[in-house]
Amino acid sequence: MTEEIIKEYRELSVFLLQVVGGLISDERTPEKSSLNDLCQSLQKAVDPSQIKSVLRLVMEEVLRGKPVVTDLFPTEIKRLQSSFQVQTETGNDLHSLIKEFKNLTNLALHQVEVLSISDSESRKLFLECREGLSELSSATETRICVDKCKRLFSNNLLFDKNSERERDELKEIITILAGSISGLLNSSGDFDSGLDECVSQLQEAHTLSEVRQIRESLLQQALSLQFRTRHMVEHIRQAQIKIDDANKKIQALQEQMERIKQEIVIDPLTRVYNRRAYDEKIKHEIMSFRRYARPTALVIADIDHFKRINDTYGHHAGDMVLKNLSKLMKKEIREIDVLARYGGDEFALILPHTSYRQAYDVAERIRQKIADKPMQYKDKSFSVTVSFGVGSLKDDDTGESYVERVDRALYRAKDQGRNRVVGEED
Ligand code: GH3
Ligand code: MG
Repeated sequence: MTEEIIKEYRELSVFLLQVVGGLISDERTPEKSSLNDLCQSLQKAVDPSQIKSVLRLVMEEVLRGKPVVTDLFPTEIKRLQSSFQVQTETGNDLHSLIKEFKNLTNLALHQVEVLSISDSESRKLFLECREGLSELSSATETRICVDKCKRLFSNNLLFDKNSERERDELKEIITILAGSISGLLNSSGDFDSGLDECVSQLQEAHTLSEVRQIRESLLQQALSLQFRTRHMVEHIRQAQIKIDDANKKIQALQEQMERIKQEIVIDPLTRVYNRRAYDEKIKHEIMSFRRYARPTALVIADIDHFKRINDTYGHHAGDMVLKNLSKLMKKEIREIDVLARYGGDEFALILPHTSYRQAYDVAERIRQKIADKPMQYKDKSFSVTVSFGVGSLKDDDTGESYVERVDRALYRAKDQGRNRVVGEED
């Protein structure tokens, strides 16, 4: 049983000493190599006196290895040192051997504590190890303690060996992150002094936990920036909705204005141009003629005995005749020609780029079509005829002289029996 305890103690001591050796330096320092040699001797030693002498050497080596240990824990170390001497002097019994193992492992744990423990979880485990160590009385307890120590150091050492690199990498990442957040804030006209503070703290930071704290604070700032950005995006979205809404209203108003503009120049019954539009168009046509001297003609059409149609079939039938004739005439002319309702049952046709003769033919063709096609109103069918006056624009014409000449031709058409085309030259 005691043999077994000694074996476990030996294992624990060797393990802890290896840990201390690993912590002293990554290089192969003389302290480390002599510690390794002593660990090997400790494992090989079988006889209690042999073990004791190796333990003494290991003890001296450990105490010599790191002056920092003696600086930080002078009383503890001195106590251990003296107890060790007392133990070694009191004989070779197994009980004192175990005590020496205990002292040694305690010492090793001190070394380890100074050199490596940095996070709270590992520290808790470490304290458990130390406490357990002082109360070891069976092989099983010792084994549990060895396992705990192994767990502590396998976590902690791996972590600590990487911690320096991790710290530097974190520093680098955080600096880049802080730079880009700062750039974002500046470009958005925002400014955050907390960020500058983070960057300068980062330059001062030495330990991993300091860097981690700065990382946390930076993360908070990034989150707040994210929140502000989201808020801004939402704001812009709302504004965009309002702009879209306003644009739709503007478009609707423009369409409405366009319609009103159209209505001003359109005769509501026949949907052809009205007298106002005619006046504008003829003015424009006269100006264009004076500038380009291209022939242009005017036809005035007047429904024959329209009053009679109204009287016979009713005003609605008369309206239907006006609409049908407008449609028919519109179909017979070109896109650039202008059809306007000149008066009650009178229509004017402005025919640009058209000679007197061509205009005459157009009028004749329309007259024919109207005369040939009887009108239908409810169950009534009746024919409608139209008389036409034709003229072409002359150099010294005004709007009035032009229309008067064509009107005179129209009267002649009426005089001559209606349903005919009469030109100014006839
Ligand atoms: P003429 O052959 O000499 O041209 O005889 P007319 O009956 O056509 O001539 P008049 O100028 O005497 O009659 C025109 C009629 O047109 C008078 C008017 O009541 C009618 N009229 C004018 N505007 C409208 C309208 O918008 N709808 C209807 N149904 N009739 C209209
Ligand atoms: Mg008439």
